[in-house]
This record gives sequence, structure tokens and C-alpha cells, in this order.
Amino acid sequence: MEEQISISLKPIGVVKSGVANPEDVPLMGKSAVVEVFPEYSPALLRIEENSHLWLLLWFHQSNRKVLTTVPRKINPQLPEFGVFGLRSPNRPNPIALTLVHLDAVEGNRLTVSGLDAVDGTPVLDIKSYYEGDIIFSPKTPYIWALDPVMRRNIMFEEAIAHHQEACVGLYLAVRMGLVADKLLGQLNTPDLKVTVIGSPCLADTLQGITRARLAHPARFIFREDDNMSRSIWEKPGRRLTITARQEPDMETFTELADDILFKIQLEQL
Ligand SMILES: [Zn+2]
Repeated sequence: MEEQISISLKPIGVVKSGVANPEDVPLMGKSAVVEVFPEYSPALLRIEENSHLWLLLWFHQSNRKVLTTVPRKINPQLPEFGVFGLRSPNRPNPIALTLVHLDAVEGNRLTVSGLDAVDGTPVLDIKSYYEGDIIFSPKTPYIWALDPVMRRNIMFEEAIAHHQEACVGLYLAVRMGLVADKLLGQLNTPDLKVTVIGSPCLADTLQGITRARLAHPARFIFREDDNMSRSIWEKPGRRLTITARQEPDMETFTELADDILFKIQLEQL
């Protein structure tokens, strides 16, 4: 029989997020402060040279008996998954892994955004995020949000994480992605091919949303065009063409109906 070792961990800091209840933490996280305890200050030397950090937290309010669960917060209709294939807070060792943006460093206080933890969450470790951590097109389970607003928010966050600015191209790309997701299903699968005709911003954001590479497999084609914004989505047996009728801005992005914003054609091949 394997010898069971026990591990003793001492928090190196604490989260100050202003949120008390785990239910109230936004899915995509929020702005918060990580207060590192004074005895660990030297470990923060030159931390400001990082734009992003991995935080390892201890979700002290979690249920450690849970081994399988449904990601209910996203969609109660999803099937059950084992917690080792999910980011569920409930798990035998409730260690949370969170990627945050480092906004500011003042002494022992790190202001970060994208943190999904309640006030008082113990911080176990802080690590730098490197280019080598990026897998551009991972294979992931299709965990889709039931609520269309949540779906839009999730896709918007993915788009911003990739393209790094909210611009017309990004607004169009997110809305096109939502239409394609609704009509064709999962977007980051090897059998989906995407052709983009339009601005580099539209193409870049659509590549970020679909994780479609130019080769191996060849899933992405881009042709720059100043006068048109169009995306063509192909899955076996189906082709979806979405052409913009107008350019949305920050407000109209959420308001315009699909058929006002786009001409949408779905063909069976
Ligand atoms: Zn842009």
C-alpha cells in the first residue's frame, strides 16, 4: 500500500475582494487586492515585470467530499463531470488556480483583475505566467452557458483576452461567434473551418474565439477587405455565411438583433 503523506501549507497572503458569498463572485472574476504577508515581501522583488500571474488559492468554503458535479453556474442542463476535468471549487483539495492580470503593485499589495475569490481566501502561492503556458488551440469539453447574456459575456472575455482591445472588429467577431455557436455548436473543434473577409481586427478576434490555426490542421483563411465584414463557417455538411449589414459600437453591440446586424445564410451541403 502507498504511504500517505500529509502536507502542511502556510498561506503567504490573503484576498481582499469585497465579496463575501461565493455565489456572488462573477464567473469571469473581478478586480481585487492580494495582500501578501510582510514576512514574504522579498518574494515580490520585480514582480511588476509580469503582466499576468497564476494565483494558487485555498477555497476554504468548498465541499471536499465532491468528486463529480454538474457546472450548474454555467448551465444546469450540462452532464455530470469528474472534478479533475473541471475548475469546480468543490474538490478533495480545494486548491484554486486562477490567472489574473497584474494591474498595480504597492508594497505588499497586488491589485489584480480577473480574480474569482471571496474576501479572506488564503493565497498559497503566486507564479509568473509565461508564453510557454499558452496552448493556442487546446481540446476542451463543450461547456456552454444556458443564459444568452452569460454566453455573450464569456465569449467577450475570450475575445478581449486574445485581441486586447474592444473595437468594431471585436464586437462583430463576438456577435458572429455567438450566431455560429448557436447554429453549428462548439467552435473550437478540428472539423470547423473559418474564412474571414474583412478587417485584421475581425480576423484576429475570430481566430482567438475559434482557436483556428492556419495549418495543421488548416482551419483559418483570411482575406483583408476594407468594404466588407463577412465570416464563412464550415462544418461537415453545413455552411454558414454571416455578412455584417452595419458596424456595431459599444452600446449597439448588445442591443442589435441578429437579423438587423447580419445577413445570415445557412446551407446544407
Ligand atoms: Zn481591434
